Formats: sequence, C-alpha cells, structure tokens
Amino acid sequence: MTDYPYAGRFPVHQRLPEHGRPREEILAELREMAAEEDARWENGKVSGTIYCGDHAHYEFMTEAYGLFAHANVLQRDMCPSATKFEGEILAMALDLMHAGHITGTTPAGLVTTGGTGSILHALLAYRDHAARTRGITRPNFIKPETGHPAFDKACHLFGIELRVAPIDPATTLVDVRAVADLMDENTIAIMGSAGNYGYGTIDPIGELSELALSRGVGLHVDACLGGFILPFGEELGYDIPPFDFRLPGVTSISADTHKYGYGFKGTSTLLFRDRRLRNELYFFSTGWSGGKYLSPGIEGSRSGGLLAATWAAMVQLGRDGYRARVKKIFETSARMQQAVRSHPQLRILGEPTFLFSFTSDEFDIYHVYDFMAGRGWRFNGQQYPNAIHMAVTLPQTRPGVTEEFAADLAEAVAYAQKQHAAGARPHSGAIYGGVPGGLTDEADEFIRQIMADMLDAQQSVPRPPEGR
Ligand SMILES: *Cc1c(COP(=O)(O)O)cnc(C)c1O
Repeated sequence: MTDYPYAGRFPVHQRLPEHGRPREEILAELREMAAEEDARWENGKVSGTIYCGDHAHYEFMTEAYGLFAHANVLQRDMCPSATKFEGEILAMALDLMHAGHITGTTPAGLVTTGGTGSILHALLAYRDHAARTRGITRPNFIKPETGHPAFDKACHLFGIELRVAPIDPATTLVDVRAVADLMDENTIAIMGSAGNYGYGTIDPIGELSELALSRGVGLHVDACLGGFILPFGEELGYDIPPFDFRLPGVTSISADTHKYGYGFKGTSTLLFRDRRLRNELYFFSTGWSGGKYLSPGIEGSRSGGLLAATWAAMVQLGRDGYRARVKKIFETSARMQQAVRSHPQLRILGEPTFLFSFTSDEFDIYHVYDFMAGRGWRFNGQQYPNAIHMAVTLPQTRPGVTEEFAADLAEAVAYAQKQHAAGARPHSGAIYGGVPGGLTDEADEFIRQIMADMLDAQQSVPRPPEGR
C-alpha cells in the first residue's frame, strides 16, 4: 500500500486508540482536511458534485442536523418531529411535481437516502406490485440508454431483466417506438429522465406517459437531478416540457433533495401517484421473539438529523430562494454554452438547460479535457460519443467563473487542434473515453479489474504495524 491519505501528516489509526484523543485535537485535524478539500471546488471549476457551496447555508443545516442527529426515526414515539419533517418534505416535493393534479388515487412518498435509494425502492415497488396484481414472476423493466446506472443496479439486485432502449443521437432523447417494441406482458414499468445525467436533456415524457397508459404499466420519471431545478426553470419562463404528475401516465418520480434541493448528502424523495404502490414497500415481521417489527422501506434505523436538515433547507429557501438560485444557474449555463458554441469545432449534444455536454467532430474532446484539467477544471467524462459535461451549480455562478471558463476553453481548443495535428492521444481519454466499436470481452474484463482496484484503494484499511 503506497499513498494512504494524509499518512505523513496525521496519526493513522490501525486500531482503536487505547486512550481517547482530545476533542480539540481531532477537530483541528478535521478542519485542516475539510479546508483543503473545499478549496478544490470553491473556485467554481468543478462540475456538479457541490450543488450549493454556501457555507452559511451549511452551518445553518448543521445546526438543524445536530439537534436531531442522535434521534432514530424508526422509534417514532420518541421523535414525533420526524413525522412532521418527513411528511412536510414529501408534501412540498409532491406539490412541486404537481401532485395536485392527481385524481382518483392518494399521492404519497418516501424519503430515501439518495437518488439510488429512491430508484431501488421504486423498482422494488413495481416488481412486488406486478407480482401481486398481475402474477408476473419474470419481470422486465425498460430504460433509455441514458437512464442512470442505478436502474441497472436495481434490476441486478431485485432479479428484474433490464432492457435498454436506444436514443436518437441527434437529440440524445429516447426512441419511444423502440421502448414500445421492447415491452411485453412481463414489463412492469418503463422510465424516462428529467433530465438525464449525461446530457441534461429531458426525455419525451409526454409520449412515454401515453405509452405507459396504453399498455397498463408504470412510468417512473427520474428527476433525481432535475426535480428541484426544472420546475423553477419553467416558472422563470424557460422551455421545460411537463414531466411530472400533470402527465397521467407518470406513476412515480425520484427527486433528490441532496442535489439541487441543497440539502446535505443523504436524502432524496420518491413520490408516487398512488399510495398503494408506495405501500408495497412496507415490511412487517409479526412473529419475531424480539417483538413486532415494521419499517417503511429498505433501511432500518435512520437519523432524524438528515430529515431535520433537509426540511430546514427547503423551508428556509422557500420558492423565491430556489427561483433566485435557479435563475443564476440557468443564466450561467447559457453563458457557458455560448462560449462552447462560439467554437465551430465544438458541438453541444441535444438541447440542454442547466447541464450541458459537448463533443468535437474535429478532434478527440479529451484533448480539451486534458488542457482544462491542467487549469483546475473538473468535468465529467463521457463515452459513445466521447464528450465532457458540465453540471452548472451555484459555485459556477460566482463572479468571474464564466469568463475564466471562456478564456480557458479558447486556449483548450487551440491546444486540442495542435495535439490532433501532431497525432497525439489525449491522456484522460484512456480513462474516460470509449473505444470505437465498443469493447472486446477481454478489454471489458481488464477495465472491470482496474475499477475493482480503484474501489480497493478507496476502501483500503491502513495496514497494522509489522508483527501484530
Ligand atoms: C445522481 C443521479 C442519480 C443517482 O443518485 P445518487 O444520489 O448518486 O444515488 C440518478 N439519476 C440521475 C439522473 C442522477 O443525476
């Protein structure tokens, strides 16, 4: 093991210290690490990841968190406040998704641990509902190619066959006819994104809604990313097609409070048109010697702190708070996109809003990535086609960031042209880019091994001293 983080600077704990360390000493260490790691994004050069970046907001949420961090919301008699926080988070999220348009069923929701948590719970609910009401034992689910890997993970975990529908490369939107062709009598649900993680574009949810209704299956809208930003964009007059419960075929929506909801990492909302689908997730154990047990979803004990902090963030910001931030983000994204469009060598994929992805038909876009990385920019790398994306968040709206982006990008394009002419291969392309024509089985196995090594390094435990 080589480079254990901070090994040379702070004590490495291979076992519990025999004598506890002073609080002040520990906090000093933590402050040092946090300050250095925050500096990485505070310049506004990091795509996505840090959605808010306002330390006053973080301090406010930390206080709310601290008041309830020790409470276990599974023991509701001890913390009735959790019912208020969770219920109101869900009510506010449902309202944002126009659940007021729902008739004939009772809308409901679940606060989960994140986007993946919401997606896992959604697919579990669809699977069990289809088994119970339609007798489906070999379920399948259809996602557009651009649908988040959390859907692949859910299908993997829950024994659901995943079918992937292609997108139209010109628009990056799913081909709805292909979705229809993939459906059969064992299809439990289909999905669309608003917007998708790669391109930030919004699938034709209206058409998917018609399709889902006509075939009697569920439609999940993944608004993990867009759920707390697109509705305000629509209010501000941007051209955002409806993607929520206004469309009658939409049966569930995931919307992440821990992204553009500006909560702490660790919460998301999963919203249902019909409470009966949500209640498929309820778990009861009635005969256990330890007593009767019940839980609303996959988790057992949960901290009241995250619910309190998320609730506090939403209520403190309010509609006008979100709108003001969304306005800045949309305007910043438009200015950055303008900088991209000013270079004929670059091409933006689809018609995005707050998150945009671009490629080049003249050179490998990873040359641009390389140059920009040297200037401290951190984009997300994409493949098929090679592209890089910027999810604009509040740190990018700080003064000077767009100007710096435009200036660095102009130099990056000149650099890419020179590298391309010299026949050079980009450094980062090997890590992030796709291989033309797809991967051979051997290459795929090789990449999986590299990825496993990365996870090993991330989860590595410091080695105990020799001889122990
Ligand atoms: C982030 C994201 C997810 C997954 O969310 P996590 O919070 O990372 O688990 C799912 N879908 C979309 C579109 C996302 O952007």
